[in-house]
Formats: sequence, structure tokens, C-alpha cells
Amino acid sequence: MIGRLFDAIVIGAGPAGSAAAVELARAGRDVALLDRQAFPRDKPCGDLIGARALALARDLGIDERIVAGYPRLAGALVTADGGSLDLTPATPTGRAVLRGTDARVIPRVVFDAAMVDAAVRAGASLRQVHVRSASLAAGGLRHVTGESDGGPVEMVARSVILAGGYGCRIMSDLSHPPRPGDPERGIAMRGYLRGVSSPSGRIVFSLDRWVLPGYGWIFPLPGGRANVGVGTLSRPGSDAKEHLRTLYDRYLHDRSSPAAAWLASAEPESAPRSWPLDLGPRRRRLIADGALVAGEAAALVGPLTGAGIAFALESGALAGERLARCLAAGDVSAAALVPYAENITRRVLPRLRCELWSQRFIGDPRRLQWVLNATRPLPPAAALGARLLLHLG
Ligand SMILES: Cc1cc2nc3c(=O)[nH]c(=O)nc-3n(C[C@H](O)[C@H](O)[C@H](O)COP(=O)(O)OP(=O)(O)OC[C@H]3O[C@@H](n4cnc5c(N)ncnc54)[C@H](O)[C@@H]3O)c2cc1C
Repeated sequence: MIGRLFDAIVIGAGPAGSAAAVELARAGRDVALLDRQAFPRDKPCGDLIGARALALARDLGIDERIVAGYPRLAGALVTADGGSLDLTPATPTGRAVLRGTDARVIPRVVFDAAMVDAAVRAGASLRQVHVRSASLAAGGLRHVTGESDGGPVEMVARSVILAGGYGCRIMSDLSHPPRPGDPERGIAMRGYLRGVSSPSGRIVFSLDRWVLPGYGWIFPLPGGRANVGVGTLSRPGSDAKEHLRTLYDRYLHDRSSPAAAWLASAEPESAPRSWPLDLGPRRRRLIADGALVAGEAAALVGPLTGAGIAFALESGALAGERLARCLAAGDVSAAALVPYAENITRRVLPRLRCELWSQRFIGDPRRLQWVLNATRPLPPAAALGARLLLHLG
């Protein structure tokens, strides 16, 4: 049975979907936020909420008491074969990198539930629905079908925002087949460990030769816990998952691993999980009549580090804002939604292209060595690079 007519249905309640739902609800719109999973839910991630991501989450109304449970990063240690860069407030470079930063490590199971809660407090209706299609129906309305625990679901709305994350291809008018020249896809594996002796609250970021063109990380959590993982590029046709597992095991257990010192007496809390990443910027349709796509469903993920939470929050908020204006004006045609696509092109894509360029450049051990040698006598350059790379600014 089709119930009430919503102004907007947001598909996916990750950071992109929650941000969009907050903006729509704040504008007084009747918005349904759908997710196939019940919250709180886990999402394989490094859990590094960069400074921009946290600032956006605050603007969107995240509960400050939840943020307060996770300390600010005390610094970062970047390791590479050619030496390491230790960023602590005790050194001028460290102070420059850390100035004003409020990046934190917050498990996604906590962060995403807090963002969903912000959307619900703003007035969005949250429902657990696995959406199968969101097609254009008579009168320009969007007809959404799916399943819930109670059986099949049919809903109707003036518009939809697709925010279903990696590989969410449920809308043919927004999907785009991969083309030659598109950025490579990524794949990453992470686990939670306890008994980790990370270097006094600093994150460890490993760019050693054998993990390139990927990287390894130790992101500390309170109580001696840490999110530990590796990410790499997933080349078509390769046994990417097996290679990833080997890299992960080596990063955790090999005595020559840059992580060995911190993980010697660590214990896994659960089996590690892997997840693909749609590393942008990819050519993708961002709008159609009565529809917009945001977050990783639009391949808005940093190709250098795989960081995507800030891009998801920003694009979700921009999509929600634009859609709210169009709903108020009574015109949700693709032509009316163009400013959203223009905003993404102007504000988000330059950063993604810059990261893509850096990935191609420093993913090669010789070039990385060159960068380290070149920046060592220039602390401000090292500081700027680390600030961008680690999403601290
Ligand atoms: C291992 C790993 C480590 C990472 N580390 C970091 C990091 O440290 N920092 C960072 O900034 N980024 C990181 N990223 C990237 C980050 O996780 C993503 O960019 C971010 O989650 C994208 O947010 P999103 O809202 O677009 O999608 P998601 O967070 O994937 O949310 C999508 C939601 O849509 C729901 N959904 C999907 N399909 C449907 C459907 N058909 N019907 C209903 N619901 C649906 C899903 O259940 C999910 O809740 C990492 C990624 C990986 C894989």
C-alpha cells in the first residue's frame, strides 16, 4: 500500500544521507530517511573523522556529548622506508600541522548513529527499508519500492536523494557505466584491536614500500583500543581480496612491519572486515528529474587516503539544501537541480583531483622518497602535506 506523499525520500542513512535529511527537515520538508540496516550499525572504516568532517557534523547538529567521548588527535607519526615524520605538539612542524585541528577517531557505529539521531531530531522519519528501485512515475513523482521486516514496501515522493554508498546502483537514470580512464577502485580491510600501545594518542600512518600504492594505519581509540587497517588499489582481474588479507596480516604480525612496535601485545576483538571504495573523481550523473546523488554513491571519496566522510557530509548537505529550495519553488526538474552539480564541480572536485594527482605521484616508492627528501629541510612544506594527507586541516 502507498502511504503519504513525502517531499523527499533519502536512500541510505550514512553520513551523506543523514546530512541531506537534516537540511531537508530543517527547511520544514516532509522527509523519509531509509536504510536497509538498523542503527546503530557498523561500516568498515578507519573511523578518522577529519577536522572538516567534524566541523560539518557540528553544523548538522551532532550531539556534542558523543563527540566529547573521543579525544582530539594528539599528533601523527608517518612512517616510510626513507624515514619517518613525527608530528607532536613538541616540535615546530608538529605544532604547525596540529594548529586548530579537531580531528578525532570515532567508531562509525557511534558516529553514524549520532548523525542519524541529528536527522531524526531535525524532523526526518527514519525507516528500515531495503530499497530496490526509485523510478520516475506519473506526474513526475518518484515511486520507491523495497522490503522491510513487515514485507514489501511502496512509497511515493516528489523527489529522492540517492546516498546508498559504494556500488548503490538502484537508479538507472543516475548510474554510469565505468569508462576507460576512470580512477582505479580501492579496497581496504580493518579490524579493532585491544592492548595497542600507540604512540601517546598519535595516529600512525604507514607509507612503507611494501604497502604502496596503499597504506597502513593505526588509529587509536580510548582504553588501549585501536582501529588498525590497510588499504590499497584494487586492480581489475587481480585477486585483490587475497592480496589485501596478506597485506593486513603482514602489517599486524610481521616483525619488520612499521606497526610491530605498537601491536606486539595487541589482541583482535573480532574478525577484520574488508570493503571496496569508489575512489573519485569519476564521471557520474549527479542529477536527474526529481533526483540527486551524494556521497560515495557519487564516487566522492578522496583517492589518496580513501577519506570520504567529509565529502559525504558536504555533498549530502548541499544536495539537501538545493532540493529544499527547489521543493519550495515547486520545481524539482533536472534543470532546477543544476546548481547542486555545479557546486560539486566547483567545491568538491578540485580537492578530489588534487588527491588523485598526489596518489599517482606518491604511490610510487621512488617518488615518495623524493618527496620526503625534498620536504625534510622545509618543515612548512612537510606540515602542509601532512595536514592535507591526514585531513587535519
Ligand atoms: C576500510 C575503509 C576505511 C575508511 N576509512 C575512512 C576514514 O578513516 N575516514 C574517512 O573520512 N573515510 C574513510 N573511508 C571512506 C568512508 O567510509 C566513506 O567514504 C563513507 O562511508 C561514505 O559515506 P556515505 O554516506 O556516502 O555512504 P555509507 O557510509 O556507505 O552509507 C550508505 C548507507 O546506505 C545504506 N544502503 C545502501 N544501499 C541501500 C539500499 N538499497 N536501500 C537502503 N539503504 C541502503 C547502507 O546500509 C549504508 O548505511 C573508509 C572506507 C573504507 C572501506
